[in-house]
Amino acid sequence: MTATGDTLRPKRPAAAAPGIEKTLEGLGVARGIAIGVIHLHDAGAISVPELRIPAARIEEECARFEEAAQRAGHQVEQLQEKAGRLGGSAGEELGYLLDAYRQMLHGSRLVRGVERRIRSDRINAESAVQQEINEIVRGFEAMEDSYLAARVADIRDIGRRLLRNLTNTPYRPFTALPKNAVIVTDEMTPADTALLDPGHVAGLATVLGGAESHTAIMARSLGLPSVLGVAGLLKDLKGGETIIVDGGQGRVILNPTAATLGIYRQKQIEFLKSRRALSRLRDVPAETLDGARILLQANIEFPNEVVAVLDAGAEGVGLLRSEFQFMNREDVPSEDEQYATLREVVERMGGRTVTIRTFDAGGDKLAPALGCTIGPNPSLGLRAIRLGLARRDLLEDQLSAILRASAHGPVRILIPMIATVEELRTTREIMNTVIRRLKKKGVPVADPPPPLGAMIEIPGAALSADAIAWHADFFAIGTNDLTQYTLAIDRSDEAVAHLYNPLHPAVLRLIQFSAEAALRARIPVCVCGEMAGDPRYAALLLGLGIRDLSMTSSNIPMVKQRIRATNLVAATRRARVIMDQSDSAHIAQLVDGFNAGEP
Ligand code: PEP
Ligand code: MG
Repeated sequence: MTATGDTLRPKRPAAAAPGIEKTLEGLGVARGIAIGVIHLHDAGAISVPELRIPAARIEEECARFEEAAQRAGHQVEQLQEKAGRLGGSAGEELGYLLDAYRQMLHGSRLVRGVERRIRSDRINAESAVQQEINEIVRGFEAMEDSYLAARVADIRDIGRRLLRNLTNTPYRPFTALPKNAVIVTDEMTPADTALLDPGHVAGLATVLGGAESHTAIMARSLGLPSVLGVAGLLKDLKGGETIIVDGGQGRVILNPTAATLGIYRQKQIEFLKSRRALSRLRDVPAETLDGARILLQANIEFPNEVVAVLDAGAEGVGLLRSEFQFMNREDVPSEDEQYATLREVVERMGGRTVTIRTFDAGGDKLAPALGCTIGPNPSLGLRAIRLGLARRDLLEDQLSAILRASAHGPVRILIPMIATVEELRTTREIMNTVIRRLKKKGVPVADPPPPLGAMIEIPGAALSADAIAWHADFFAIGTNDLTQYTLAIDRSDEAVAHLYNPLHPAVLRLIQFSAEAALRARIPVCVCGEMAGDPRYAALLLGLGIRDLSMTSSNIPMVKQRIRATNLVAATRRARVIMDQSDSAHIAQLVDGFNAGEP
């Protein structure tokens, strides 16, 4: 293995004129105000495995390289779109540069050279990329031409991108950050975001990323003020500048003046004050004005979030995204390790129910250890339960760990991305086999066994919710994916973020249909997508029959406050009117009007 930190140094844009205040808009994905110092984030060192490969693997290696190059091309295209929206000479200049990047990824000397090395030297794609880049760089440096010398940085940049794609390398080095560091970068994966420590990092701003991406969800979980999808963010930055991130407004201010800093320091104080005031709601029930009791639970990714969950007054964990246990590592955690982690959560929740979702890796949540690949269409590929059923060994180990944890407190098992009744039935058979195996060995398991539920997040599943309900012990409606798949809007793509709308009548009808199917089958139904954590939607969801909401714990007080100001009878009446509408803009007016006090 070699680390390319030295050979492929990241390209740094030119320095900014100091002190010029600049305001940029983006998608505010996690509320709060961060005032700090810019830490320009790059991938750091990438471990490059150097391997000789047998002749039989040559085609596979070439295909891996092709896939990595295609992905890099897509990433550059996204950056190019951003550059286009920048306008002016800056946008034009950046556009030319990115054009050159794209050319480097298609039939260029670089691409041909890498393929030749794989075939003739019989080496893996990573080594071939590294060797080819080094040779091109050496050639350019020898030319003593200032223009070509400047291109060396670009070639290194493309090399880093290819290696990162080939090795699925997370952006790791979040160590030695200055106090109040604000991470500024083109793109963060959810796995990278999970590595941020809110004790050290003040905020996050990125060029790419949508509001319902898992990166955004992680940022909210961490309570890290964050703005994603900020066009032109990296232009002229050199790191170390002062920055304000306003995660509520979706605004980033670079080099703020003393006056602006004063205004935002005051806003920061007010935000913290209102959060403290809301925290006083912790021990009061989530009850509507007319006495309906609503269950408010928390979504978590890691055991250490339990403190925040209990602090927020959550009555259970409505969604534990177990896939995060498989990220940022090269191996799969053993069954014992998984059991220890889950048992810790169950025990710390002290008798409150913990809903553990089997791994939903794939899409934007890469867990190389689980063998999930990018594929041509990551959101539609081998992910979630499809991956579990294809890798039954992994699913059985995980189910075994969950079942063992169920002996320590109330647990429910939730299956992600259910599309058919058959998938749920097969999973139940596997679960029953695992239970029999554990019992035979005398290993304690909850008796009766944990309820087995289905995520309703694929439109096809929502439309057949009545059939699935006969085989499920409960439903969890995942509005993030349900909106993504219903409207064909990539939830991670900031370019279409303005079109992502859970108030689209099609999405609302699927939620309503699923909720009614669950109520008819007398099984519990919860909404655990981001919609559940937005107080704006609380009365509407209640009006559609939902009595169980699960969300990022920091949003619980806000949603509880909204519920306590809601009359359920009126909310149900308003929901009926809303469901008769076909125009989302009018639906939004009806939702906002009701929230503002209309009867
Ligand atoms: C959802 O899709 O709404 C959901 C809760 O799951 P995730 O966000 O993890 O895909
Ligand atoms: Mg989902």
